[in-house]
Amino acid sequence: MVLFRKRNDLEKWLESQRLRGLHIGFVPTMGALHEGHSSLIRAARADRGIVVCSIFVNPTQFNDPKDFEKYPITTGPDIQRLLADGCDALFLPAVSEIYPEQDGPIPRYDLGFLETLLEGSFRPGHFQGVCRVVEKLLRIVGPDRLYLGQKDYQQCMVISRLVEIMDKKEDIRIVICPTLREADGLAMSSRNMRLSTSQRKTAVEIYNMLSMLKHEIKPGSLSALLLKANLQLESAGFRIDYISLADANNLSPVDNWDGQQHTVALVAAFLGEIRLIDNMVLT
Ligand code: AMP
Repeated sequence: MVLFRKRNDLEKWLESQRLRGLHIGFVPTMGALHEGHSSLIRAARADRGIVVCSIFVNPTQFNDPKDFEKYPITTGPDIQRLLADGCDALFLPAVSEIYPEQDGPIPRYDLGFLETLLEGSFRPGHFQGVCRVVEKLLRIVGPDRLYLGQKDYQQCMVISRLVEIMDKKEDIRIVICPTLREADGLAMSSRNMRLSTSQRKTAVEIYNMLSMLKHEIKPGSLSALLLKANLQLESAGFRIDYISLADANNLSPVDNWDGQQHTVALVAAFLGEIRLIDNMVLT
């Protein structure tokens, strides 16, 4: 695996790979890598070509400065994991490499309705920051395929919209990989390592609640079911940002289910100061 800290060096190297006729698969991450990230690298590996991973804790997408400061950084083990997963190139830029002083005006992305709800409404500016960094990374890496985790359901939709805005829909294929979970069902996340032992035990209630929704959803009003889900997490000790039952294609809320509509449950909730998100396609 080749490690790049400078965009110019990575760009030159990628150009030489393209001249060899190889296509490029890209997995952007914020590091503190776990099996979920590895599954994306392995999916890219299985599609052949060159696999590029980036690790960059993007300051512009954190609406809570404390969350940014405490974001885990585990570069040594991350490199070991990427080597074991068969990654070809790691891009590990400094903040000044991505956001140089002379960076021009901050772009404004028109994400429409998507930015007004769920993560968009509870984390103001978050998706603008995500788009800002992902646009830069996509322009540097120029991938043929972009691998994303369903764990960040709304983010997948936002990045898909970004690719449209960039007019790159024909060039970049987005591959969405399933959420990897711990043995008890907790979605793997870099933030899990900040949970105390007792919080870690409680955290599985998110998965239990989503599974309950999947088993109990029935045609008709969903308000009682939603109430039950909220009570389940509250009584376990969570502070809930949202639990939403939404159309799986556009995230608009589903209040009455007709038994057909493709529906997803999405949740964000705090245990102490650690915010966890998860989702499950219900139908
Ligand atoms: P992050 O480092 O959290 O920004 O995540 C980088 C990529 O890994 C994103 O596309 C995430 O959706 C994906 N990812 C994070 N956790 C998981 C997981 N448990 N299973 C599958 N993909 C994941």
